[in-house]
Amino acid sequence: MKCKRKPVRAILYSALLATGLVLPAAVATATAAQAEEVNLYSSRQPFLMKPLLDAFTMETGIKVNMVYLKKGMLERLKSEGRNSPADLILATDIGNLHNHDKAGLLQPITSTILSANIPPQYRHPDGNWFGLTARARVIYASKTRVKPGEVTTYEDLADPKMKGRVCIRSGKHVYNISLLASIVVARGVEGAAAWARGLKANLARKPQGNDRAQVKAVYGGECDVAVGNTYYMGKMATNEKDPVQKLWAQSVNIIFPNQNGRGTHVNISGAAVTAAAKNKANAVKLIEFLSGDGAQKIYAEANFEYPVKAGVALHPMVASWGTFKADKAFLSRIANQRVVASKLVDQVSFNN
Ligand code: FE
Repeated sequence: MKCKRKPVRAILYSALLATGLVLPAAVATATAAQAEEVNLYSSRQPFLMKPLLDAFTMETGIKVNMVYLKKGMLERLKSEGRNSPADLILATDIGNLHNHDKAGLLQPITSTILSANIPPQYRHPDGNWFGLTARARVIYASKTRVKPGEVTTYEDLADPKMKGRVCIRSGKHVYNISLLASIVVARGVEGAAAWARGLKANLARKPQGNDRAQVKAVYGGECDVAVGNTYYMGKMATNEKDPVQKLWAQSVNIIFPNQNGRGTHVNISGAAVTAAAKNKANAVKLIEFLSGDGAQKIYAEANFEYPVKAGVALHPMVASWGTFKADKAFLSRIANQRVVASKLVDQVSFNN
């Protein structure tokens, strides 16, 4: 039987209204509208995000509180648990997004805007994370010591013809685990193991340094080819703080691997709504905004990356590297092979 009495909350509200301790509904709503906000944990740098977040606030009136976390986001979210203030995260590499997902820190969202703007291979099938910018993991080849057509595939890097000529960072780095995981998807575990073994046998030196350090080593003559993400080419070629990097960039060509086959491995930076989100709707709005035409152009250009949305113009330098065919394997599938890939790195003693 339904109770016809006035609910306790309504009585309390009337009483508080009478004493002036609460504001009438209309005023309260207006105040809430002014206080609309969203809390963001970002491993992407403030210089990159600020113009975009400012534009979002201008357009929607929603204030963005961004905490920049270069490292330790996963641990922080884990320790904060349900009390975390973060509504959404921005992270680079599918590996990091996947690890947050596997730790139960994310929640699925559905959005027709995100489904329309982001190709399915760059988002989680249930909406647990979404790619917003893309980067290809390519071969940087010496302009003078690598003949045209000599190296065209990831498989070539593991071919005996490249003995002593290859430089790459740690096999355990998140970028390389994702690359190896993509080879597990393409060629199976045995195929990927053979590739990792072959690549190790061809290394000019023990894996060390970051992506840029590999191009520096090509410039210095230590090796003829290196593996790295595309945006570093732009960062080196325009580096006014450390102009010697321009010489590193000038010494190499970018080769997009596997153009006659599965295509080049592409990774993402992306966003996800946290399981603890208290401003979920605003978090979704922000991700939708970042997937739109205007934001995509600014976001990708600022770091020499590729927009994920089709039809968005590229930075002229990024365009100068040429068009390429990307591996169409879903990143969610690749992410599921990361544990296998990591074990393979140990199995073949890649870093020793
Ligand atoms: Fe990077």
